[in-house]
Amino acid sequence: MNEVMSRRTFLKHAGVGAAVCAAGGLAVQPALASEGTSSANAWGVLVDLTRCNGCDSCALACKQANQRPEEDQIPNQLSSDSYSFVDRRVYVGDAGQEQQMPVKRQCMHCLHPACVSACTVGALTKTPDGPVVYDSSKCIGCRYCQYACPFGVPTYDWANPLGLIHKCQFCISRLDEGEQPACVAGCPTGALRFGTRNDLLAQAHSQIDSNPGRYIDQIYGESELGGTSVLYLSGVPFAAMGLPTLDSQSPSRYAEAVMRKTPVIGLTVAALASGAYWLTKRREFLAQPEVVPQEVNHDR
Ligand code: SF4
Ligand code: SF4
Ligand code: SF4
Repeated sequence: MNEVMSRRTFLKHAGVGAAVCAAGGLAVQPALASEGTSSANAWGVLVDLTRCNGCDSCALACKQANQRPEEDQIPNQLSSDSYSFVDRRVYVGDAGQEQQMPVKRQCMHCLHPACVSACTVGALTKTPDGPVVYDSSKCIGCRYCQYACPFGVPTYDWANPLGLIHKCQFCISRLDEGEQPACVAGCPTGALRFGTRNDLLAQAHSQIDSNPGRYIDQIYGESELGGTSVLYLSGVPFAAMGLPTLDSQSPSRYAEAVMRKTPVIGLTVAALASGAYWLTKRREFLAQPEVVPQEVNHDR
């Protein structure tokens, strides 16, 4: 029985499930990001980089809240073990002075998420309240979401075929209980603020207007890719902080047009290719048990 179950599980997570659907005439449909655009009162988080001291409390609180392994170890990148981390950047000013800049990173919970548009089976959805959430029971492991995300957020757990994709879910279970996201609650400096996106935008604009010497005149995420639920304030250009320079056009609109026209047979081929790739990676992983932690951390 176990053998049968593990084989079924493998087939599903190798992407062959999509082939079975196709052979049976069942069309797999992507969820369209534009259909899940959040309401005016959707939740958001404002990250004020001028208040961040790089203490890593947010990243550790995130690990604990999501019951990730080694929850007392500070992460240095996004991985299946860490849905958030504090990036370290060095900003060189006009006079050549260097400034250490910590930058908290996680899913941006885009208003028009490319990951949602790219997912052929609806495993990723944008909720009206703001969070972009993932349903592992629908995922076939094709990893299209990884390729589509402009922020490099979704990660794949190569060590665990049941693990599939991992990413920040905006602590949606905490929000349902009326609590703040764990990272916000864990920040001791007020660098992270939780509220409705509209309120946070108004507060951020007010902060810029009343402190023009402290902040550059830009709120990252207000318009990038059509807007994101996570917003940033900074005293230095965002490009220097490792945040990609993006226009205001959502890539999901293009992706949706393509996905609507993608024939099921194409999805089947892609799913089979994904399965073969998974097998290769899995074989590599099993052949090198002594380097398992590094392999997992450095290969999204
Ligand atoms: S940051 Fe990436 S994973 Fe998060 S919602 Fe946007 S496209 Fe999706
Ligand atoms: S919202 Fe939750 S899952 Fe996302 S980065 Fe913060 S603590 Fe982690
Ligand atoms: S907890 Fe707050 S101050 Fe500490 S690293 Fe995170 S955002 Fe920065």
